[in-house]
Amino acid sequence: MPVALGHDEIGTKIIDGKEHARLIRREIRRQVRKLKFTPGLAVVQVGDDPASTVYVSNKKKDCQYVRFHSEVHRMPTETPQATVIERIQALNNREDIHGIIAQMPVPDSIDGDAVINAIAPEKDADGLNLVNLGNLLINREKTVPCTPAGIIRLIESTGAEIEGSRAVCVGRSNLVGKPVGLMLLNRNATVIYCHTRTRELVSETQQADILVAAVGSPNLITADMVKPGAVVIDVGITIAESGFVGDVDFESVKEVAGYITPVPGGVGPMTRAMLLENTLKLALAQRGK
Ligand code: NAP
Repeated sequence: MPVALGHDEIGTKIIDGKEHARLIRREIRRQVRKLKFTPGLAVVQVGDDPASTVYVSNKKKDCQYVRFHSEVHRMPTETPQATVIERIQALNNREDIHGIIAQMPVPDSIDGDAVINAIAPEKDADGLNLVNLGNLLINREKTVPCTPAGIIRLIESTGAEIEGSRAVCVGRSNLVGKPVGLMLLNRNATVIYCHTRTRELVSETQQADILVAAVGSPNLITADMVKPGAVVIDVGITIAESGFVGDVDFESVKEVAGYITPVPGGVGPMTRAMLLENTLKLALAQRGK
């Protein structure tokens, strides 16, 4: 459903992630109003990483808006891994909690993957445990990671055809690059992954009908690297003096791209909206709906 696309003066369409996310939140709130139970999300945060604390409080705010129950389990940095896992297991067993997420990063003394994999697959609201990633790998998507899910929605909103397109993902992390590439592959794109050992990054990106930059390197993607008319999705967030900076040099690339996401206001708000959507889906599944 293409909504809320702003056109700039030369015809590139700016994909308004904030507006898409607002509409998704509103729809979720409408659906929750009709339910006879309250979906519940638990967030487990170990340590006091300041950025994580901001993200967690945003998640709580989002839950309030859509009328989910939410609870934050904040645990001190020195909490042993076994205690964190016990807490997650207790949440797995609660009927009023339908979604659980473990806020990353965890302190060095804790294995983040072990914590994520302690979450029961049917309550894995981030879609990051091995069962859900495995389902994604074999093209039986169940709960998919939030940022990739948001990216796919934004691409779909442009009306651009994913099937048969050449999609280039710059970045191959387990959190963003790899799963978004798999989601594009599941939708029949031809997918190329680029990373730090890629020999000819420019010639790869120049051929992309869909270009996803998930690197964390400010303004890495410049206009000469973009195929005219391409859909360009900027996932990167770097905090600079001027504010948040993406991986795409927005000012130059918007002269070439067909569609482009801004930073901020592109992928970020969609990641938050997809967490709500995943939680609602998990809650409905647990209640047999
Ligand atoms: P990450 O784990 O650090 O992965 C970065 C990826 O970029 C790696 O695969 C790395 O290659 C690749 N890379 C680094 N420099 C490169 C270069 N010069 N050329 C080509 N590839 C290069 O990061 P992440 O977790 O995927 O996050 C990526 C960015 O997205 C970050 O800025 C993060 O803050 C942002 N992010 C945003 C959201 C959102 O909601 N908007 C959500 C998650 C992440 P190697 O594998 O070879 O090292």
